[in-house]
Amino acid sequence: MAVVFWDLGGIMENIYFMKKFTKKKENFVCEHCGRAVEGTGYTNHCPKCLWSKHVDVNPGDRLEKCDDLMKPVDLYKEGQNWILVHRCEKCGIIKRNRISTGDDFDEVIRLSQEIADRKTKNNCHGG
Ligand SMILES: [Zn+2]
Ligand SMILES: [Zn+2]
Repeated sequence: MAVVFWDLGGIMENIYFMKKFTKKKENFVCEHCGRAVEGTGYTNHCPKCLWSKHVDVNPGDRLEKCDDLMKPVDLYKEGQNWILVHRCEKCGIIKRNRISTGDDFDEVIRLSQEIADRKTKNNCHGG
């Protein structure tokens, strides 16, 4: 494949852009519900089923080797924002993520009801 040298300016700009902004826009297919998710650089969970994946050590770095699915286990409101709590199915780590505007709010409501139900059923403190 021939590389046309007058395109190099654009390539250099892209490299510069990629170095400056470490947030990755990556598309992925949700391993829980199979939905094709279009990455925005901020998405770290599936907007449809709200499951996540344990891929980050720090948000966005994709350095985690665990790589298992993270289940949405809790949900609470912090100011104007809904915070989703994920627990990794393999290693059990807990992570908190802000719900984004692109997320399926019906699923958020459904999940909040499920969590409320579970809390009512397992009404034992100290566990
Ligand atoms: Zn999903
Ligand atoms: Zn994990």
